Amino acid sequence: MSKILVFANQQGKSLSSGTLEALAFGRRLAVSSGGDVEAVLMGPAAESNAKEVIAYGAVKAYVVSNPLLAEYQVDLYVDSICTIFQQADADVLVLSFDRIGKDLVGRLATRLGAAAITEVVDFKTEGSTQNWVRPIYGDKAYGEYSVTRKKVVVGLRQKSQELAISDVTRTGEIIKVDYKVPDEIILTKLIVKIQSALSDLRLEDAKIIVSGGRGLGGQEGFQLLQSLADLLGGTVGASRAACDAGWVPANLQVGQTGAVVAPDLYIAVGISGASQHLAGITNAKNVIAINADPDAPIFKRANIGVVADYRTVLPALTEKLKQVLV
Ligand SMILES: Cc1cc2nc3c(=O)[nH]c(=O)nc-3n(C[C@H](O)[C@H](O)[C@H](O)COP(=O)(O)OP(=O)(O)OC[C@H]3O[C@@H](n4cnc5c(N)ncnc54)[C@H](O)[C@@H]3O)c2cc1C
Repeated sequence: MSKILVFANQQGKSLSSGTLEALAFGRRLAVSSGGDVEAVLMGPAAESNAKEVIAYGAVKAYVVSNPLLAEYQVDLYVDSICTIFQQADADVLVLSFDRIGKDLVGRLATRLGAAAITEVVDFKTEGSTQNWVRPIYGDKAYGEYSVTRKKVVVGLRQKSQELAISDVTRTGEIIKVDYKVPDEIILTKLIVKIQSALSDLRLEDAKIIVSGGRGLGGQEGFQLLQSLADLLGGTVGASRAACDAGWVPANLQVGQTGAVVAPDLYIAVGISGASQHLAGITNAKNVIAINADPDAPIFKRANIGVVADYRTVLPALTEKLKQVLV
């Protein structure tokens, strides 16, 4: 019997979609191992979201209140999550392997003396233990892993699970934890937050993404992408090459080491389709690729492919869509 603790990350005032996946996964795990799922929340919206995590299946919600946790700060979050994990005497910690999850998983596992397993998409129960399933070889195969430690930190691949379903008749316990931040762990402080100029729609939640790669040749190309994204009510993404070149901020990166997305429509412009990029769009419903090279691997993933220079296709496409949509 396992006790599963979910780190309920919040985005603004609501639970992130990754958290709803983690709660669904945690419940499945709890049912399979005959255990319970509990959740830990922090930040200003923690108290108001505590009832929600119970509706989504947690039997206990730990609300960690401390003004220093209002904004994500890695050292403080590691310390507070570990404190609750130990207080709850949990066996498995589940969190979305999103940007924050990627920052946390290794650190949490080290502090807890636990095994860390990332990009998990499923589990298999063998007797009283679980094996963890994750993609390997750039998503070309799946591997099943057992771990040798009793405690496990699971980083759940984004967009790999159905979202938990809310049932407001569920009941549970809300535990308020008065967490004191040890002075010596406050190593960094947030001075100022700068809003990204491109879009405030999170890639992970976008239904339409217009993404650009090295083939755009510079920052200017992204202005064309932004116009198309605005017209379609979508947002802009990018390949790692475009981010590394400094044409767009790193938080727009899609792929294995960026955001894993699942839009209805993904338009890849000047992106070759490296396996690490494709790993981020496995669950995209439709892919349109615009690329000058007819042999670019992206065309194997695309539902519709346009072999052309984007500088001719994109303005024409945007103009035509304006006539139809506006
Ligand atoms: C450990 C690791 C992790 C990685 N993680 C990621 C990740 O998360 N995300 C990611 O994207 N990459 C990642 N990469 C990098 C990845 O391997 C590729 O290098 C990268 O995706 C290439 O980006 P690109 O497609 O923009 O560039 P390129 O591969 O250079 O492709 C540019 C494309 O643009 C086309 N093109 C050129 N001019 C035009 C034009 N005028 N009109 C239309 N098309 C044109 C070309 O034909 C070409 O296909 C990772 C690599 C490693 C080793």
